[in-house]
Formats: sequence, structure tokens, C-alpha cells
Amino acid sequence: MRTEQREEMKNIAQLLRRAHCAFGELSERYGIAVQAGTQCCSTCALTVFRNNRNKRGCYWTMNDEIQLDESGKFSIGFVGHTKVHARELCSLLQFALHRHGLKTKRDGLSNSVDIIGMR
Ligand SMILES: [Zn+2]
Repeated sequence: MRTEQREEMKNIAQLLRRAHCAFGELSERYGIAVQAGTQCCSTCALTVFRNNRNKRGCYWTMNDEIQLDESGKFSIGFVGHTKVHARELCSLLQFALHRHGLKTKRDGLSNSVDIIGMR
């Protein structure tokens, strides 16, 4: 394995570990439902939230992990009951990711946050 490739794999593992820690915090501290790569795609992830009474949460999917591996792009989705609620959830998600050393950017008005690097 080439050195850069090995370095990149290490980074991916570290990025996912940090995202898992951020999700643990969202779940324990704020009671937010989280799905860390447990569903295949966002359609399935959103169905789980829709069937859940509290209907709010943050997620990434197996497809997102594949995309991270293939193109280095990683987005985390969130869903709230209302627009205001979704905005609050987005702030909590970004704070949690920042506390775990991940740099983020919200892509316009979409219900997702892109991870753009690590500190
Ligand atoms: Zn699916």
C-alpha cells in the first residue's frame, strides 16, 4: 500500500471515530436520535425517523461511508419537526462535530452539514 493511501485510510478511520463520538454526545446529552451508518441510504434513514414518534435526528448512511472512502466527501444529515427545530438541530450537530475536531460547512438551506476537514 502506498504511503499516501495508508495515510488517507487512517484519516478516514479517525474522521469516522470523531463523528461517532459527536453522535454519542448528541444522543447522551441532548437525547437526539442518531443513526451512524446503520441504514443503506438517506431514504431508509429518513423512513426510520418518520416512523419514530419524536421525528428528529441526525444521521449518516452506509452510502455516505462509501462516498467518503471513494471521493473523500462526507455529509451528515439532520431532520427536525419544523424549520426552526431543524435549525436548532443543525447548530447542535455543528457544535458537537467542532468539539470533536471536525470542521464543517452547511450547504445552503439543505438539511445536511458537510465535513470539510479535521483540526
Ligand atoms: Zn436505503
